[in-house]
Amino acid sequence: MQAGPDIQRNISLKSWNTFGVDASAEYFAEVSDTDELKEVLRWRKDTLPGLPYLILGGGSNMLLCADFPGLVIKLRLKGKEIQREGNLAYLKLAASENWHEAVLYSLENGFGGMENMALIPGDCGTAPVQNIGAYGRELKDIFYSCNAVNANTLEERQFSLEECTFGYRDSFFKQNKEWVITEVCLRLTADNHLVVRSYGSIESYLKNPESPAPKDIAEAVMAIRKAKLPDPKVTGNAGSFFKNPVVESHFAENLKKSYPEMPVYATDNGTKIPAGWLIEKAGWKGKTVGDAGVHPLQALVLINATGKASGKEIFQLSEAVIKTVKEQFGIELEREVNCFGCV
Ligand code: FAD
Ligand code: NAP
Repeated sequence: MQAGPDIQRNISLKSWNTFGVDASAEYFAEVSDTDELKEVLRWRKDTLPGLPYLILGGGSNMLLCADFPGLVIKLRLKGKEIQREGNLAYLKLAASENWHEAVLYSLENGFGGMENMALIPGDCGTAPVQNIGAYGRELKDIFYSCNAVNANTLEERQFSLEECTFGYRDSFFKQNKEWVITEVCLRLTADNHLVVRSYGSIESYLKNPESPAPKDIAEAVMAIRKAKLPDPKVTGNAGSFFKNPVVESHFAENLKKSYPEMPVYATDNGTKIPAGWLIEKAGWKGKTVGDAGVHPLQALVLINATGKASGKEIFQLSEAVIKTVKEQFGIELEREVNCFGCV
């Protein structure tokens, strides 16, 4: 008789989420290829249909407010392959390849496109979920296709760039959680024209700002990030807790009358105001409430200040931040981090 998948019970997720909050999974399975993934999904379908499930990558964009009353599937799909076509390269990455290591691999091979997104934590398979981005680049700029398995039907198919409907920290996959991404294919280039060098403080970190190569950009981005962002291994966090709000331009202009120093950036859909600036102005930067806090160098990052914060405490802090920013500026911040069991 064929043995079923290895499903464990009541497993702690504390070391599996970068907030380092203590929560457990009722059922837990690790899968190292697509067949094993399908086997576990089939087990759920046949044994406990309707059981909630949660796909776990690097756990760097989630907040667990309670024990997960269902099946957590930890992906361990490894493998990478680069196919060169003249000045282009198609880089195929299995879902559990580490994103930053993939950035370094692309640079070692002489291909650019990922450099502005160096040091973003997490896995390659998760990158399309929220269309990761930093320093003027988003995943969508280099995305070619991805493969995914439907958790309910077990259908396996490929998604093109258009089908992913990428938006600002948003995608088809963020809205349709039944698809599990198993492989991502990126389209990179050996030309330097993809380089974005004037964004935030990148330029001031460049040794040769006139003609930086992709690896110079990556080095600048890594230096800035190391100086400014908390290392989750030291202080639990999930990066930016909120999205930057995009408001109607006339609303931003009116706000500017009261706050002339407020930074604003024009986008296709309106005016972007950095959420970190709003939170800082609302007096939250560096503050702690119980065991949770707002990072002293970047107010957009909520932290597990003592290492003992519960998910609920961090979530309650986020509620307080949203409330005061709304009262002071009339802007409702939206969470970027995926929250489970919080409301
Ligand atoms: P997880 O937290 O494991 O999962 C996130 C969500 O995706 C969950 O809902 C999960 O169920 C789902 N998911 C996971 N894997 C899959 C899959 N294979 N298929 C379908 N769904 C899946 N983000 C940025 O965009 N830009 C940044 O610059 C950035 N900087 C950060 C800095 C720090 C210090 C930290 C801690 C986080 C930062 N982030 C940033 C957020 C985070 O790194 C990204 O969102 C990353 O893509 C999350 O990957 P992960 O594998 O850890 O996701
Ligand atoms: P920063 O350089 O202090 O800038 C603050 C905000 O202003 C950023 O959020 C950025 O928006 C915006 N901005 C800066 N220069 C801009 C320009 N030339 N054009 C348009 N918008 C501009 O930001 P930071 O906190 O140090 O982060 C630097 C980059 O890393 C940002 O792109 C940020 O998104 C990314 N990051 C993301 C996370 C995450 O978890 N999502 C965590 C850390 C850093 P955008 O955010 O829209 O780029």
